[in-house]
This record gives sequence, C-alpha cells and structure tokens, in this order.
Amino acid sequence: MTHRVAIVGAGPSGFYAADGLLRGQPDLKIDLIDRLPTPFGLARSGVAPDHQGTKAVVRQFERLLAQPDVRFAGNVEIGRDLSWDELCEDYDAVVVATGMVVDRKLGVPGEDLPHVWGSWKFVAWLNGHPDFRHGPDLSAVRQVAVIGNGNVALDVARLLAKGPDEMARSDIVPEAGDAIAKAPLTDIHVIGRRGSEHASFTNNELAEMGRLGRAVALADSAELAVDASATGPTPERLRKAKNLEILRGFAANKSGSKPLSVHFRFNAAPVAIRPGEIELACGKLAADLVITCIGYHGEEFPRREGVFAVGWARHGPTGTIPTNRADSHAVARDVLAWLGKRDPKSGPDPLPRSIDAAGWHRIDKAEVAAGSAHGRPRVKFADWKALLEIARGD
Ligand SMILES: Cc1cc2nc3c(=O)[nH]c(=O)nc-3n(C[C@H](O)[C@H](O)[C@H](O)COP(=O)(O)OP(=O)(O)OC[C@H]3O[C@@H](n4cnc5c(N)ncnc54)[C@H](O)[C@@H]3O)c2cc1C
Repeated sequence: MTHRVAIVGAGPSGFYAADGLLRGQPDLKIDLIDRLPTPFGLARSGVAPDHQGTKAVVRQFERLLAQPDVRFAGNVEIGRDLSWDELCEDYDAVVVATGMVVDRKLGVPGEDLPHVWGSWKFVAWLNGHPDFRHGPDLSAVRQVAVIGNGNVALDVARLLAKGPDEMARSDIVPEAGDAIAKAPLTDIHVIGRRGSEHASFTNNELAEMGRLGRAVALADSAELAVDASATGPTPERLRKAKNLEILRGFAANKSGSKPLSVHFRFNAAPVAIRPGEIELACGKLAADLVITCIGYHGEEFPRREGVFAVGWARHGPTGTIPTNRADSHAVARDVLAWLGKRDPKSGPDPLPRSIDAAGWHRIDKAEVAAGSAHGRPRVKFADWKALLEIARGD
C-alpha cells in the first residue's frame, strides 16, 4: 500500500507540488484534480496569448502527466462534484492549489456599470476560458482606461493595442481577436494611483510597449521627475530606475505618430466611474471601457490537519509562474513529513467520472490541428460542451 494525495488545482503550483512530492517519494499516487477539462491553470488562461514563450512552461508539466502514478482528473470541481470533507476522508493528504482569480473591487461609485470589467474576466475571455465566452462590446469603444500599474495592466493594454498582424502567431480566441481588430480604438490610458516610481511593471514588459506596431507609448515628463534611487533593496531600485528611463523614452515620443496612443498616467487615483467617463484625482478622462487590473482574491477552502495550501491559494495573488516552484517544493516536504507519520488509507477509488490525461490530449491535438491551418500555435475551444465532447472522443 502506498499513500494517495489529492492535489486540487492543476495550475503551475499544483504541478510543482506533484513534482516536489515525487522527488521525495517516487511511489506516491497523485490525483491532480481540476474543475476544467484542461490542465495548467493560468499558464493556459491567464498568461497573455501573445506571450507563447511563457506558456511553453507547460511542457515541463506534460512530463509529469506522463508519470504512471500521476492521474489528471479534469471536469471535477471540489465543493460541487466532491466535497472537501469527502476528499479529506479518502486521501492521505490534500494539497490545495486552487489559485486566486476573483477580481478585486476598486471601491469607487460606478464600478458595477456594464462597461467596467475586471482584468480576470477580460483576459479569461481572450484566452478561451469556457466560463467566459463573452467579452465587452468593443464595436464603439474608442477610449479605454486600464487601471493598475502591474504587468497585468500592461498585458491588457498591449493586447488591445496590438494589430491583427502582431497577434497572428498568438492563441487569442478568434472572436476576441476579431472584436479588437474591428474596434475603433484611439487611446488607451494606463492609470496608476501613485507616482511613476511606485509602478510595479517589470522592465521587459514595459519596454515592449515602446515597440508596438500600431500604437505609440506616451508619458508626461513632469510625472517622471522623481528619484527611484533612495529606497528599497538593490534589484528593486534597479528595476524602478530602468522603468523610469523607459518611461522617459515614451515622454520623448511624438503624439499622433501612430493610429493608436497608449498614455501612461500617474498620481491618478480613480474617484468615480460614469458612462463614457472616469473621474480621477487629477481630472476627468473619456472612457468607453474601463478594465481594472488591481489584483485578485480567492475562494475559501478548509484549513485543517492534512490539508496543505500552495501557490496563489497559499500566499496570495502575486508572483510569476517560476516563483511558485520553490514554494510548492517546500510545502511538498511538509506533506511528506505528515505522510511519514501515517499508514496509508485503504478504500475504493474516490474520484467521480472525470476527464483524464488522454481526454486532455484529445483536446490538445484538436486545438493544435485547428491552429496549424492558420499558422497559429492552437485555436482554443472555449465551449464547455465542445471541450467535453472532444475529451470523451464523442
Ligand atoms: C492575467 C494574468 C497574467 C499572468 N501572466 C503571467 C506571465 O506572463 N508570466 C508569469 O510567470 N506569470 C504570470 N501570471 C502569474 C501566474 O499565472 C501565477 O503565478 C500562477 O498561475 C499561479 O499558479 P497557481 O497554480 O497557484 O494558480 P492557478 O494558475 O490559478 O491554478 C489554479 C487551478 O485550480 C483550479 N481550481 C480552482 N478551484 C477549483 C476547485 N474548487 N476544484 C478543482 N479545481 C479548482 C483552476 O481551474 C485552476 O486550473 C499571470 C497571472 C494573471 C492573473
């Protein structure tokens, strides 16, 4: 008899936890359970569709799916198809890797208006998440306010700003790509509550905004007359100083030199949102669409003995895919120590009918085949029914 571990959530931290567990105890039986019929969490449905290099991390995860004692169990939602209590009774340990993707609220009047979207809903639509089939109506959207000063705000602004030729090798869902291409966009405002020295953009992602084909990046030099050298540890100081250098380059760009402008605005805390307009601490802006990129929170899960959280579910919604690896490996060591003090449980297979790795590979193959006809890495199926039919070989 060997121990059986359930990992709930087949995103990056779930896979890294499986990796850490198998390194310590290669004969462990692991079920990687996900509510979607597809694995990889935000590596599939969060990471921007034009950043295929980042998405390539899933190849490592595929190697884990090929291990004989790792079972993928897709289309199983814990809390709906199986309770947390049942899970805890049936498995020797439970790892919670469910992430955190409920959009945080801004807390200003008007944020529930229909033209205000959270970044998760928006990015999940572009990425073909089957719970988010419909995006905002972009047919009359000229001005967009993107609220936030992190990389998700840059993703959103860039994906709206790029032209169809720049998205041709991406796996954006075709209907979203078409809607963006046809939108009469003229201005995208990336809005920071605080000064430019506080922006948490990473350098490469910010610099990319200066290389867009149909959009010019602009900033106001008066907002860049700040010093990033005074505080924080060295890598942070260097990142901020480099960001300011990049933004100063944007300030030197010529407004109107390309059909679309991306304006970086700072010290501009949102005060209220109204149809067609956003009021900021520094004045009013026209905005037909507002996308908030201000972070996430998560769903509750039971915190009890034998339940171990990893990744975003454990430490909150910050950090890139690779940063989850060390965290998941550390938690895996705690899980192994816990298992070491217990005899394996016995009992029938607790899993309900699910989509296994072979089912996922049928989806993968069909998506890649649909993409190759258009020179794209894949065309995603974003419809629950279609995904399940393909996975089941119907
Ligand atoms: C918009 C966006 C863009 C990003 N871009 C980048 C990037 O370019 N580069 C980078 O390195 N990082 C990026 N990140 C961060 C990266 O995606 C995260 O660090 C990472 O995905 C967190 O992994 P996780 O496994 O903890 O959570 P997730 O990736 O969210 O995985 C959680 C999984 O749990 C499943 N699940 C949830 N609830 C249940 C349940 N009750 N039952 C069963 N399954 C459940 C979900 O379906 C999901 O598959 C981005 C994040 C976002 C939001």
